Amino acid sequence: MEKQELIREGTAKKIYSTDNSDILILSYKDDISADKENRKDSFPGKGIIDNRISNRLFKVLEQKGLPTDFIEEISPSETAVKNSEMIPLNVIVRNYSAGSFSRNMKVAEGTKLICPTVEFTRKDRLSGDPMINGYYSLALGIATEEEIEKITRYALKINTILTEFFSGIGIDLIDFKMEFGRCKKDLILSDEISPDTARLWDKQTHEKLDRDRFRKNLGNVADAYREVLVRMGLRED
Ligand code: C5P
Repeated sequence: MEKQELIREGTAKKIYSTDNSDILILSYKDDISADKENRKDSFPGKGIIDNRISNRLFKVLEQKGLPTDFIEEISPSETAVKNSEMIPLNVIVRNYSAGSFSRNMKVAEGTKLICPTVEFTRKDRLSGDPMINGYYSLALGIATEEEIEKITRYALKINTILTEFFSGIGIDLIDFKMEFGRCKKDLILSDEISPDTARLWDKQTHEKLDRDRFRKNLGNVADAYREVLVRMGLRED
């Protein structure tokens, strides 16, 4: 398989086509951003850390029967993935109050929720990723009723698996974001799950081991990402 053209570039990744139209290459960058504020920075090794963490999580999910786009890690910061038609929704699951949930619901950060929540935001830079519900998604032709139902079911199952996985390495999964794609009539988990797209807190100290360290200017961003990598038994080299 040969890397060809750059198809898309986001803050954290570049996506390349290959000589096989069924396969894309995700190339993780060292850049980090604070969502809507447009504040950016980078640290060496970030691309490798996110790539390795996400690939391990996707493998864990595959083993539990959840279909993902993962094919193989082709270099420390690059992964071959299945080419899918991305559904333009951010799918967010929360177990504890934080971030926009705390702001919007006026609930203190770190409050354990009685049950997990699932929410969607529309991936659309122009409108600033607004929250969207199933009916809006149907009305705008973003997804079918069957897909909305399946995405919700998968999201909650993925949450159960990852909550247990992170608990095993002394981490509380506070919340995380997923994206799904259509691939040969299947719905598959795509994009990434990493400290960039999840809130991960040390179980004992509640120290933040994720992108909130950058968003909130808490310092030690690289150390926090590396801590997650090491606890997962992974290495940068
Ligand atoms: O900001 P908010 O509290 O809604 O974020 C919920 C979760 O989704 C966080 O883990 C955040 O990192 C993730 N997220 C993301 N990309 C976005 C929006 C949220 O990874 N565009």
